[in-house]
Amino acid sequence: MTELIDGKALAREIRGQLRGAIETLADADSRPGLATVLMGDDPASQTYVNMKQRDCEEVGIDGRHVDVDGDAPAETLYETIEDLNADPDVHGYLVQDPVPDHVDYREVIRRIAPEKDVDGFHPENVGRLVAGDARFRPCTPHGVQKLLEAADVETEGADVTIVGRSRIVGKPLANLLLQKAPDGNATVTVCHSRTENLAEKTRRADVLIAAVGVPELIDASMVGDGTVVIDVGINRVDADTEKGYELVGDVDFDGVKERASAITPVPGGVGPMTRAMLLYNTVKAASEQSGVPVELP
Ligand code: NDP
Repeated sequence: MTELIDGKALAREIRGQLRGAIETLADADSRPGLATVLMGDDPASQTYVNMKQRDCEEVGIDGRHVDVDGDAPAETLYETIEDLNADPDVHGYLVQDPVPDHVDYREVIRRIAPEKDVDGFHPENVGRLVAGDARFRPCTPHGVQKLLEAADVETEGADVTIVGRSRIVGKPLANLLLQKAPDGNATVTVCHSRTENLAEKTRRADVLIAAVGVPELIDASMVGDGTVVIDVGINRVDADTEKGYELVGDVDFDGVKERASAITPVPGGVGPMTRAMLLYNTVKAASEQSGVPVELP
């Protein structure tokens, strides 16, 4: 029987565990605070920041949202960043990507105080992660590690193939799984659009992680028997539904589940975990900035 790895249930459990830590911090006058910043009015980004704010409210984190006019100069966004860096009630924040074309996202990231960079994208935090001393694990890779742990999947000694080498998923995840640590110690292969013989690399994996952004790219012929399959992809495809679309992953779920020993669904797999790990990083940031120790899940 193929195991369905339920990210929604695990995310709920993690949020429940975080509530205790949040109360401890609130009792010490350090209720965690998370700010989201959106420059422009991209509808998908608006949905994401709304979800993040709802998550904060649900667990007792102080959520704050700042809108920046999409036509304003980059300096206006930098001023918001300076304000948030200086605000002791904001322990963590993020600037939603994408930003308008006239703004350089890398420069935006560089200006975020590293101790408040709960996405884990600042060069200092990337460096620390690579060096094996992560301050914040980026949310999606951390969520994937938690899913593997919850499903009792040993990464130590496993052949892990990651399809996708993005800054936010593939690269940090590859680094985390390579670490000399109980939730690392894997032999990692990272594939991308220039990889030759992709199916050969995906078929030999014990754990296959797809973070590509191509609907159902990974089909059953690319998966070996008994593989653990983690589908990071979230793709909107036209469908005869009320909204006119449905969400599908980078994996052909129906075909691949016949082969896999365990698999995450889309939706309800990695997505809810990404959101839960943002709350985790916010609580960690608040604990470190206030000096109040808490137990993290
Ligand atoms: P990017 O577009 O930044 O990166 C995609 C990666 O896939 C690139 O490395 C690219 O290669 C590679 N790629 C593209 N096409 C192919 C192909 N045909 N064969 C092999 N490799 C290919 O995407 P993200 O990492 O940001 O996101 C990936 C997916 O995950 C998306 O569907 C996104 O929506 C989803 N996502 C989901 C999250 C969640 O919480 N579940 C969070 C973040 C993302 P190259 O580098 O050569 O261009």
